[in-house]
Amino acid sequence: RYILAIESSCDETSVAVVQDGSVILSNIIATQISSHQRFGGVVPEVASRHHIEQITICISAALQKAEIKKEDLDAVAVTYGPGLVGALLVGVTAAKAFAYANNLPLIPVNHMAGHIYAARFVKPIVFPSLALLVSGGHTELVYMPRENEFQIIGETRDDAAGEAYDKIGRVMGLKYPAGKEIDQMAHHGQDTFHFPRAMQNEENFDFSFSGLKSAFINTVHNAEQVNKTLNHNDLAASFQQSVIDVIVKKTLRACEEFDIRQLILAGGVAANQGLRERLSSDIRNSFPTLDLVLAPIELCGDNGAMVGAAGYVAYQYGVVSDDLTLNAEPSLEFEWAEHAEK
Ligand code: ATP
Ligand code: MG
Ligand code: FE
Repeated sequence: RYILAIESSCDETSVAVVQDGSVILSNIIATQISSHQRFGGVVPEVASRHHIEQITICISAALQKAEIKKEDLDAVAVTYGPGLVGALLVGVTAAKAFAYANNLPLIPVNHMAGHIYAARFVKPIVFPSLALLVSGGHTELVYMPRENEFQIIGETRDDAAGEAYDKIGRVMGLKYPAGKEIDQMAHHGQDTFHFPRAMQNEENFDFSFSGLKSAFINTVHNAEQVNKTLNHNDLAASFQQSVIDVIVKKTLRACEEFDIRQLILAGGVAANQGLRERLSSDIRNSFPTLDLVLAPIELCGDNGAMVGAAGYVAYQYGVVSDDLTLNAEPSLEFEWAEHAEK
C-alpha cells in the first residue's frame, strides 16, 4: 500500500510517500528554521505562512521523487495534532482537499505516534514495547501493550528536554534550535559544573527540567557579574550529562518495572549522540536481551515519513476520517491513552 503523508505541526513542511508503513519512497522536508532564528524560536504566524507557500510544492515533489502517480496511492495520512493550530490547519486542509479530489481515504495521525513509529523504518515493532519520546515539546515514557495503543506512564512536569536545550542555548548565544550544537560542544567538554538531576531517584517516571535550566542560567549570570569566562564546552557537557543521567535512569527503571520486549528511542532529541550512546551501553549492560531500537537520526526530527508509518498502522485499525470534518487539534493527546495512576 502507498500512503501520501503530510506533516506541518511546527516548523517543517514535509510530505512523504511511504510503502507499507516501512519503506520510504520519498520524504521531502522544507524547513523554515532560518526564518525563525532571528526571533529565537518558532513564530506561529510566520510558520503558517511558510507552510501555505510550501505545501503544494512539497506534495508534487514527494510524488515526483517517489515516481508515483496520484492514481497509485491508497490513502492520505496527515498530522492533526498536537502542534501549532495555524500550522496544523495548513496540512489538514491540504490533506482533505487532496483526499477529496483523488477519492482517497484520509487517515488522521497523532504527531507523537508518528515520532514513535519512525522506528518501523529500522525494524518491526514488537509488543509490549516502551517508547522514550524526547522532543521539543514532549518528554514522555509511553508503554505500548499492543499495536496502536499508547499509555503514558511518565512525562515532564514542566519543560520538555528539547525546550531546555533550546533555552540554555539562547543563554550561550547559540542559534535556535540549539540541541545539535550543544550535543557537539558537549563532546568536547566535561561535566565540571555538576548541575542538579531533578527527580532522578523518585519512584515515578516523571521528569522535570526547569530546575536544571534555572541552575544553568544562574551559573552563567553569576559568572557574568564578576566578569568570569566559563568554558562553554564544559557548560554544554554538564547540562547534557544531567539531562542524560535523569532520562536514562528513569527509563531503565521503567524497563525493570514493565514487562517489555522492546525499547524505542524517538523524537527530535533522540538524535542526541550522547543519549544514543549512553542508552545503548546501559541497556546492553542491564537488559542484554531487550531489543533497543533507535529511530534513524535523519527521521528523529519532524518529517512526513514517520506520519506515513503511523498512518499505515492506524489505517489497518480502521482509523479513517471519511466525512471531511477532520480538524486540527493543537492539544491532542494519544487517542487510546490511559494515564497510568501516579
Ligand atoms: P513535538 O514533537 O514535541 O511536538 P517538535 O516537533 O517541535 O515538538 P522535534 O522536531 O521533534 O520537536 O524536535 C526538535 C527538538 O529537538 C529541538 O528542541 C532541538 O533542539 C532538539 N534536538 C535536535 N537535535 C538534537 C540533538 N542532537 N541533541 C539534543 N536535542 C536535539
Ligand atoms: Mg522542528
Ligand atoms: Fe515533533
